Amino acid sequence: MSGMRKRLILVACLLALAARAEPPKETPKETPQEPVEVLRQRLAERLATPVQGQASVRPAARPARPAKAEAAKPLRWGYTGDVGPQHWAELAPENKLCAVGTRQSPIDIRDGLAVDLEPITFDYRPGAFSVLDNGRTIQVDVAPGNGLTVMGRRYELQQFHFHRPSEERVNGKQFDMVAHLVHRDAQGRLAVVAVLLERGRDDQPHPIIQTVWGNLPLEKGEALAAQVPLDLGQLLPQDRGYYTYMGSLTTPPCSEGVLWMVMRQPVGLSGQQLDVFARLYPMNARPLQAGSGRLIKQSLGGP
Ligand SMILES: [Zn+2]
Repeated sequence: MSGMRKRLILVACLLALAARAEPPKETPKETPQEPVEVLRQRLAERLATPVQGQASVRPAARPARPAKAEAAKPLRWGYTGDVGPQHWAELAPENKLCAVGTRQSPIDIRDGLAVDLEPITFDYRPGAFSVLDNGRTIQVDVAPGNGLTVMGRRYELQQFHFHRPSEERVNGKQFDMVAHLVHRDAQGRLAVVAVLLERGRDDQPHPIIQTVWGNLPLEKGEALAAQVPLDLGQLLPQDRGYYTYMGSLTTPPCSEGVLWMVMRQPVGLSGQQLDVFARLYPMNARPLQAGSGRLIKQSLGGP
C-alpha cells in the first residue's frame, strides 16, 4: 500500500470516528462537545504529520487528556450579560442572598467609627502554593499553616485571589485591584482580609505579585504547583490599620456572616503587573451593595 493510500484510509477512519462521536446522553446541553473537538484536533495533527514507511501500527491517537470537571463545566456565572451580577440569584436557588441579602459585599466604606481596633495578629510564613486560573479570577491556594487571630478566634488562610478593579471602595475611591485573602475558622466562619492594590512605581514590581504571575498556569482549570515558596507577610501593607464590617462573599452564593477586614494602606504594584491581570480579567468586580445601616469600625489614626 502506498503511503498516500494509507494516509487517505487513516483520514477516512478518523472522519468516521468524528462523525459518530456524540455527547453522552447525560451531558447537559451547554457542555462543549469535547469528543468531536478532540478528534478534529487529532485529525489536524495527523494531517500535519508526514506518514512514515511502516507506520500502520502507530496508535491512531494519543489517549485523551482526562477532562477535569472544573475545566469542562461551562461558566455558570460571570460579570457581564445574562450571567452577570444582576442575574446571579436567578442562576441557582442557593444564590438567593445575592438578590435579597441585607449584609452583602462589597460596600463603599465610609463614616466608620474610629476606635481602638484590636490589631490583627497575622501568622503568615513562607510556604508552598499553587496558582489556578478558575475562569473568573486568578486564585492562589496555599499550604496549611498560614493564619490570623482576631477577637480571640484563629482563622486559617485557604486561598487568595484578585479582582480588577477593587470591589470595595473607601470614601468612594476605587483602587486598581484588590487581593482577597480568604480565611476560615474551625467552625467554618469566614474572615476575608482585603489588600488594596494600586499602581506605584513601575520600576518596583511587587515581589509577591511577581512570583504569582510567574507561576500562572497556561491552561484554565489546571492548578500549577510552584517550585518556590511564597511569604505572604510581604503582601501586607506596613500600616496594619484596617476597616472592618460584616458582609458576604462577593461571588455566588453570596453567603453572609463574613468578617471583612480591609487594610487601610494600599500596596503598590507596577503598571506592567497590572497589565498582566488586565489582559486576563479586565473586569471581575461585583458592583457596590447597599450598606443598609451596617456598622463600620476603623483603626484610629492614619490618613
Ligand atoms: Zn474576592
